[in-house]
This record gives sequence, structure tokens and C-alpha cells, in this order.
Amino acid sequence: MIFGPRYASRFRGYWKTDSESRLLAVVESALRDVPFYAQRYKGIRITSAADFKAAFSTIDKDVVLGDYEAFTSTAIDRSRYDECTTGGTSGKPLRLLLPRDRYVHEYAALHRMWSKVGYRFSPRAVVRNERIVGRDFIINPILREYVFDGFRSSEEYLERIYEVMKHRNIGFYHGYTSNAHEFARFLLRRGLDHSFLKAFITTSENFYPHQKAVFDALPGVKHMNFYGHSEKLVLAEYCSASGLYHFHQQYGFCELLDEFDRDVVSIGEVGEIVGSTLYNVGMPLLRYRTGDYARYAGVGQCAHCGHQGMSATEILGRWAGDRVYNADGSYVTTTALNLHSDLYARIAGLQYVQSQPGELLVRVIPGSGYDSSVAERLRAVVAAKMASATSVSVEEVRELEKSANGKFLLSISRRDKVAS
Ligand SMILES: [Zn+2]
Repeated sequence: MIFGPRYASRFRGYWKTDSESRLLAVVESALRDVPFYAQRYKGIRITSAADFKAAFSTIDKDVVLGDYEAFTSTAIDRSRYDECTTGGTSGKPLRLLLPRDRYVHEYAALHRMWSKVGYRFSPRAVVRNERIVGRDFIINPILREYVFDGFRSSEEYLERIYEVMKHRNIGFYHGYTSNAHEFARFLLRRGLDHSFLKAFITTSENFYPHQKAVFDALPGVKHMNFYGHSEKLVLAEYCSASGLYHFHQQYGFCELLDEFDRDVVSIGEVGEIVGSTLYNVGMPLLRYRTGDYARYAGVGQCAHCGHQGMSATEILGRWAGDRVYNADGSYVTTTALNLHSDLYARIAGLQYVQSQPGELLVRVIPGSGYDSSVAERLRAVVAAKMASATSVSVEEVRELEKSANGKFLLSISRRDKVAS
């Protein structure tokens, strides 16, 4: 395998991962080497997950943003870590140190999960937030990905994706839920032969019943929807046989908590998804509130797929897939506008405001290093993801608008909803 022996052993041993002992190892090194935890929990002894839950209080993005260095281990070799910035859905960017070898863990987990719908490291069509310029797709030979433009949604482009997949016998479509839903609708509408297609693997947006009905209408094509997030602490898969999301404790230590850090225990109750890393000793986020919520469905074994552990009936994400519209009614989701670039390092907050299709205002709270050239680059990056006729402008503000209940809104629409 191109990912090497560590990947292979992670892949084989994935379901047997002893998450509690991994968690305890990370906690032990955090208490020793990470200033935030070392100071806060001085002298404490943790010998079980229950000890850990009793002693550690939750943290959130604001806590980490407040003191990045305090969350960084003093004992690591920094050259073995990448500094990544996550942004988009929560307005303020978060800098994170992630181990260079995270792919060993990440892909072993993803491939293990996807194997439930027949995935065996075969080629995938990937349709997410990539903008492909000057051609229809690019190939990533290492990951065996055919990467298509996630922003082109014309009938011609859907035909092109279809032709490439059919011609090259690509059995898996992996993308944002809304993109995959569009493609599935296209197949049904046109009555096309899709015998080469084995499964849709979807992620990153809320998943709605009307979308499930479309995926279910394609005979012989499986569907897996999964939940993950950029801090890489929690992974959950949607099991279509049971209609439940199953959380993978092998990937990260996951809890569903109320606002007082108590476990949600009643079926049907909504709790915040709280994750703890099992691998990232360089910058360990422990009991980290993700800002995403799930409706608790209990702990136990799934009668359909055998999954063991916590499940939820619904995931209510920040990733809600808000849309911003071009003048012709085509749209881009705010998830897709997520800008993984150094731009995030220079802004302290971001919000999209739309008063009519074809016009988009980007509100920005300037951060350090922000100047007019950053504003122009930001404008150009967003504009490149919208249709060329769409006008994009940037406005500097001191604070962002919130909803009546105080929640942050990544996008604000000043008009009636566009029918879709
Ligand atoms: Zn199941």
C-alpha cells in the first residue's frame, strides 16, 4: 500500500482500537507537556475515561484562539507538524498544529468506514470545494481521485462528469451532499445507465430526507453520508439500514454534552458534539466543543451493521450548507467558500451578506496584517468561486451580525428564499 505499513496496520486494526488507552496516553502527555493542561490540572491523576470526564472541563474555539501557544506541546519536534488554518463556518479562523503523518490515521479510518459501501481504495470522483481552471478535472494519482469542479453545476458539466466516470469505470462519487444529490437527480432525470456506479459517499453538509429519497431511488447504488470536521476529533457515519449516525470511538473520543458539561442521556435529546483527540499530542484538543449538535439515540450495538457505541438520529451542523446565489439562480454553498489559505490568518471574522442574487457582500473584521491588498485578494478568491457576473464586495466591520438567539450566522440573506 502506498501509505506504508503503519497505514496498513491502522486499517486492519481499526475496529479493535482501544480508544480509552489511547486517550489516556494523550491525556498523560498533555498533563506533562502542554502548558494549558499542565497548569490547569496540576497534580491530577487520570487512570480512566471516567476520571478524565470528571476532571476536565470542556474547551471551545475561543479558548484555543485565546492562547494558541499554551495548547502546543513543549516536547514535540515542530518540523513534524503542519500549521493548518480552519475557517469558514464559524467566522473566526482557528490555527491548528496537525501531525504530518495524520494521513495514516485519517485515511485508515475513512477507508475503513467507506469499505462498508464496498470501497476498496478504488478510484473516486471527488466533487467538493475545488475550482478547476482550464480543464474539466484533475487527477490525484496518490489518492486515486478524479477531482471535479465543485462550482460548476450546468447540465453539460454533469454530463461530462458522467462520461468520465462511465468511461473510466469510476464506481464512487465522493462529494458534498448537495453536489451528489444534484448528480443523482441528473441520473434519474435522464434515465442514464449507472451500472458502473457503486456508491455515493457524501459529507460536509446537513443531510435532508428529500435527498435520501433521491439516493434511495437509484437501484444498486449504495450511499454513505458521514460527519467529520476540520479539527479532526470526531467521525460519524450514517447507517442507512438503521437511519442512525454511528460515532467512531476508534477515531476520536466523542461525547454528547449539554451546556453544563453533562452527558446527554435521554433518547431524543440534543447535545453538543464534544471531541478529544486520540493522536495529536502536538496540539491536543481535549473535550473540545465542536459547535455541532446531534440528537442522541443511545449507546449499544446496531442490529443492522453491528456498530458498537453511541448513535444519533440527526446531526445538526454549523455546516448547514447555507447558499449564496448567482443572478441566474445557480448557487455556491458557504461550505464551499471555505478559504483554506493564509487569508484566514489576517482576518478575525467573516460573514456573507446577500441582498439579492448576483450581489454578495463579504463583511470582514480585520486581523493583524490586514490591509487593502488582503481585502482585494479575499474579494478575488470569493469572486472566483461565484459566477463571473456576480459582484462581490468586501466591507470592514467591527463586529458581525448575530441572529435573534445570539447564534453566529455565517450567511445572512436579506430577501425571500429562492425556490430550489
Ligand atoms: Zn448500523
